[in-house]
Amino acid sequence: MSLTLFNTLGRELQVFKPIAAGKVGFYGCGPTVYNYAHIGNLRAYVLHDVLVRTLRRMGFAVTHVMNITDVGHLSGDTDDGDDKMVRSAQERGKSVLEVAEFYARAFFNDTRRLHITPPTVICRATEHIDEMIGLIKRIEAKGFTYSAAGNLYFDITKFPRYGDLARLRLGDLKAGARTGVDENKRNPQDFVLWFTKSKFENQALVWESPWGTGYPGWHIECSAMSIKYLGETFDIHAGGIDHVAIHHTNEIAQSEAATGRHPWVNYWVHNEFLVLDRGKMSKSSGGFLTLQSLVDAGYDPLDYRYFLLGGHYRSQLQFSYQALESARNARKSLMDRIMDKAASLGAGPLPEPEPKALESLSQSKAGTYIESFNKAMEDDLSTPRGLAELWGLLRDSDSSPQEALLGAFDMDRVLGLNLAAEAERRRSPPVPDELKDEIERLVAERARAKRDKDFAAADRIRETLKNKGVTVEDRPGGTVWRCEGQASQS
Ligand code: AMP
Ligand code: ZN
Repeated sequence: MSLTLFNTLGRELQVFKPIAAGKVGFYGCGPTVYNYAHIGNLRAYVLHDVLVRTLRRMGFAVTHVMNITDVGHLSGDTDDGDDKMVRSAQERGKSVLEVAEFYARAFFNDTRRLHITPPTVICRATEHIDEMIGLIKRIEAKGFTYSAAGNLYFDITKFPRYGDLARLRLGDLKAGARTGVDENKRNPQDFVLWFTKSKFENQALVWESPWGTGYPGWHIECSAMSIKYLGETFDIHAGGIDHVAIHHTNEIAQSEAATGRHPWVNYWVHNEFLVLDRGKMSKSSGGFLTLQSLVDAGYDPLDYRYFLLGGHYRSQLQFSYQALESARNARKSLMDRIMDKAASLGAGPLPEPEPKALESLSQSKAGTYIESFNKAMEDDLSTPRGLAELWGLLRDSDSSPQEALLGAFDMDRVLGLNLAAEAERRRSPPVPDELKDEIERLVAERARAKRDKDFAAADRIRETLKNKGVTVEDRPGGTVWRCEGQASQS
């Protein structure tokens, strides 16, 4: 049993070897919270979720860190353009922090609806300025920086490995340099570590620093926060393919410059883009689709998750309502098969994918599907093949309903389609929508409290739920709640 991942660093499939046995440190670049996430962004977070779920099901203890960018991200990744947060705040007549709070909440509402497991650590850039300053000081002390017009820059010529990830060559970079770049830069690819007065004199959020009152560049936040929570070298870093050439290239340069260690991250995983039939989707262009717009068009967020799983993360995926409709139909047939099998079990509880129960499947036909499913997932997270194995299992009459359901629920620990809870829900009388929303909000709050080890708060929420007639049970696939005979899973 070993996981093979396509490592952008080296551009090849590699067998995953963790730094510490049985543990994985994983950092996935999080959202810039100046607007709703578009459905392309959400493709990145579904991939991170599939990766984390696969590793956990394989037995690894995964620390998943996600940042929230609430400062410093300009509309151009190369320090050009406006500050995304400031512009959004001005347009909406709100403060930057209000905007950040609103869109961070909207983001986590989307990820919850997509059944994405909450990260172990969620860290906001504005709450880690000291760590960023500390890291910049180390970079400066080692001679990788220069200051110009009040900004502190990283000098890429001091870092000979610059561009390895993206296979950039410095000569080409100079030849291909664009016009209109910051004239204070010695090289077009140099990037800002700390901004002071040369840009946005009336920046909303500023901090004192050894380089003057100002604010950090965007790239430094990911280096500072990942190092804080995962150490100076860690296992896996992920993000969209657009981050290879600039953001991740710069993260590597500044992190390795600061620590002197190489490599900073062992495996780099990048998802290809989701594109619309009419072209690229971008958050700043305004014309983008959100998860809510799919819900408003009558789709379940899990239809979108199913659609995403149908494509391999390293292939571009074209979104259309026609394709989403096919995903909805496929998910409906999948659930119908599950319900047929559940019906033949009578009113008893549905099987749970516990180690002992799964062990009993190993010699059965269902066991061979699970084995092929594992191979698919361990082969660079092939979700399309994983889905095909799930379908094979549910179609095959050689497996008993009990075995087929057990196998399907086990596969769903990775696919995250919420099969067991959805089946429980359909076997029970419906819960009114307002109550369901309220319960799911409380269940998510309890999960957050548990993650933050605030067990007193988690117990209080459990009591609140109990007073509403809701019981909660933590299972391998997530928390299952029951409301006087009605059930669901969050
Ligand atoms: P942002 O909030 O703009 O920083 O982006 C969040 C994540 O979404 C990053 O990992 C991006 O690389 C990724 N991303 C942006 N656009 C797309 C897209 N159209 N398809 C897939 N991933 C994307
Ligand atoms: Zn990042």
